[in-house]
Amino acid sequence: MEYFRKLGIIEPILKSIKEENFEKPTEIQEKSIPLVLAGKDVIAGAATGSGKTLVFGSGIIKNSERGKGIQALILTPTRELAEQNAKALTKFSKYKPLEIVAVYGGLSISPQIRVLRTADIVIGTPGRMLDHIERRTIELDNVKILVLDEADRMLDMGFIDDVEKIIRKCPMKRQTLLFSATIPADIAHLAKKYMKDPVKVSAESYVDPKKLTQIYYDVPDSLKFSLLVYLLKHEKSGLVMVFCNTKRNTDFVANNLKLSGVDALPIHGGFSQEKRNMAMRQFHTKKAHVLVCTDVAARGLDIRDVSHVYNYDTPRESKQYIHRIGRTARAGKEGIAISLVSPRDYDNFRRVLIDNAIDITKKEIPNVEKVRIRWMEKPKRYGERHTGYRR
Ligand code: AMP
Repeated sequence: MEYFRKLGIIEPILKSIKEENFEKPTEIQEKSIPLVLAGKDVIAGAATGSGKTLVFGSGIIKNSERGKGIQALILTPTRELAEQNAKALTKFSKYKPLEIVAVYGGLSISPQIRVLRTADIVIGTPGRMLDHIERRTIELDNVKILVLDEADRMLDMGFIDDVEKIIRKCPMKRQTLLFSATIPADIAHLAKKYMKDPVKVSAESYVDPKKLTQIYYDVPDSLKFSLLVYLLKHEKSGLVMVFCNTKRNTDFVANNLKLSGVDALPIHGGFSQEKRNMAMRQFHTKKAHVLVCTDVAARGLDIRDVSHVYNYDTPRESKQYIHRIGRTARAGKEGIAISLVSPRDYDNFRRVLIDNAIDITKKEIPNVEKVRIRWMEKPKRYGERHTGYRR
């Protein structure tokens, strides 16, 4: 506990850290908690899995008192990340109880209005947050700390206007903390506009590159799905994530895996909140061990013990590839990232290789038996939500 105490973390939080069995601070915690506790604005280059929640949690919990209005506001790109942050902050504040509320679209607004009246800390997606601001059902005058979590993703998802509107509703006198896996120009611009002398801190990803094996198969389109089934059935694995580029492919792969006897679950932005929560519960309790997902749906999910990440579709950008492989080989565990590269993926795969100069080893295709595929009849239409889900 001494390591954490030295950073200036208050006693009640130290007590819950002890219960969580954290041994020592992660790199981003070590570098940025002292700055956060000194009241500085911080730009932290850190992805999910880096331990960033404790970074802003240590400042927020220290500076918030029960029943003094909303004192901290955390903006997140997805509902899952909002829920996950709420859960983590509730744990960290176990010995200094605060009312922590997550608000996001897809759930009825009335219960949220009720809990917002007494909340101390609010975590939410920009769309629903703005909705509350416009309805005057959220009062931001007491906000002392504003957190922009996974800022790059929020901007990628088209939330920039909403985010700026929300920032402008917060008091000028505040501490602003920005977390982002990457710091592209638009993030730098946002920081310049709304932060006061921010200190930049960055940390290596929590992924241990020595423990991560990256391989790829060059596979004809006609064998791609069969190869996935073969590998899922033959590779000894724990929890597995299979990434697709579209909702449609996610459904296609998950449905066909089920038909081939693999306990797969799809999760993507076209699902209702209940369906997503249910999928996550089943995956967490290991009732299903294969999660088939899109990048957006997977973003921010705190899933531990992922042993294999499959790229069924190669992502369009290398940044997404890095995010995907970051799901495995975490916290000292071994992990494997496997890309199934068919001619349709060649362009994307070339980009991934060039941009990252990463070492991905080619493997020969094993003797795969062709499995029967059921094609989906017609594309499902998923309504766009005001929270901005696109994939
Ligand atoms: P985060 O990036 O905040 O979502 O954290 C990723 C995961 O790492 C969560 O499951 C945390 O509970 C865990 N974690 C955070 N800090 C530490 C630490 N110092 N030691 C071990 N695990 C940690």
